[in-house]
Amino acid sequence: MVKDQKFYDILGVSPDATEAQLKSAYKKGALKHHPDKNAHNPDAAEKFKDLSHAYEILSDPEKRQVYDQYGEEGLEQGGGGGGMAAEDLFAQFFGGGGGPFGGMFGGGAREQGPKKARTISHVHKVSLEDIYRGKVSKLALQKSVICPKCDGRGGKEGAVKKCAGCDGRGMKHMMRQMGPMIQRFQTVCPDCQGEGEIIRDRDRCKQCNGKKTIIERKVLHVHVDRGVKSGHRIEFRGEGDQLPGVEPGDVVFEIEQKPHPRFQRKDDDLFYHAEVDLLTALAGGKIHIEHLDERWLTVDIIPGECITPGEVKVIRGQGMPSYRHHDYGNLYIQFDVKFPERLGGEDGVPMTEEQIKALESVLPPRTAAATAPPTDAMVEDFTLETVDAAREGGRARGLAGGMDDDDDEMHPGAERVQCASQ
Ligand SMILES: [Zn+2]
Ligand SMILES: [Zn+2]
Repeated sequence: MVKDQKFYDILGVSPDATEAQLKSAYKKGALKHHPDKNAHNPDAAEKFKDLSHAYEILSDPEKRQVYDQYGEEGLEQGGGGGGMAAEDLFAQFFGGGGGPFGGMFGGGAREQGPKKARTISHVHKVSLEDIYRGKVSKLALQKSVICPKCDGRGGKEGAVKKCAGCDGRGMKHMMRQMGPMIQRFQTVCPDCQGEGEIIRDRDRCKQCNGKKTIIERKVLHVHVDRGVKSGHRIEFRGEGDQLPGVEPGDVVFEIEQKPHPRFQRKDDDLFYHAEVDLLTALAGGKIHIEHLDERWLTVDIIPGECITPGEVKVIRGQGMPSYRHHDYGNLYIQFDVKFPERLGGEDGVPMTEEQIKALESVLPPRTAAATAPPTDAMVEDFTLETVDAAREGGRARGLAGGMDDDDDEMHPGAERVQCASQ
């Protein structure tokens, strides 16, 4: 069941159309209604735009799912920009370049559109907390705007004259004699300093000093939507620099997530490192995790479940909110188990019989019997000594691949076990 089937109707397909059917329907419709082919029919241009928009949504599985579930409103919340321009989609669909009509209909190269001022790009760094909750950042930027006093003329009405020296071009061809040759070269017009215009000093606009634009501070409200990912771009069309005679530029913010001290993020999932003591790992207890929205998660470790070093557990639904969906990723917790230095009494006093019995009563039996030598083997007895780090630490490291430094954080305990059995 889909909520709204307008986009399917525009393409003339049913809501259960396959990707191939959508593609072929769009291709047929777009070729028929392309503005280059329908110069005298403004309705066709509208139809072309609608087709492109419908296809843009439905050809993206994620957007299609949102549309099917929530209709057009579902697509429109948050985020700036109205999606891709119809022509861009069309060009992309047909492999870029001038589109399929350049040769076919003799239209020649399509106009590149009016000149546009530069785009102001800015990387907006956001904390994981802010991405978790969503926020509106107020960001100020300096941009040039058309001078309101002279309306971008640079001086009093009628006082700005085209430069006669360069005919308003700002550049001038000059000749230079180089021995027997005459060299022709281009240079900035010295009469107008490349402006192409001359303004008498007394007619010059006082506010912009003849520059036609002034610098203005503008505050933009950037919506950081819940669950947004690094690299996401938020566009403000026409909010960039204004220059006389050209279209205003755009402002683009790119979201960059700052690293977080507790969590690592992968898509919608969060990863957390928890260190537990051996007693908690074996006999149960609690760990506490400070989440991103001022909540603390208290997590029960069940007695006897035996958390092993490096083991990963999951709390479902406690990851990041999914961008423009209504669910959450998972929180994965990887455990380090901190083994005690020794058991038993203080300073080398061995464990008591009762302590050993107590451990034996709950732990699985010793497995040394499985590796015991054949009964007729020659046997010598040894005990282990502690490695002297200063004298032979290097050799010990070579053997175990990192014995007393935790360079492999995943299995510090496992290594210890390995060392003990060498
Ligand atoms: Zn000039
Ligand atoms: Zn002015």
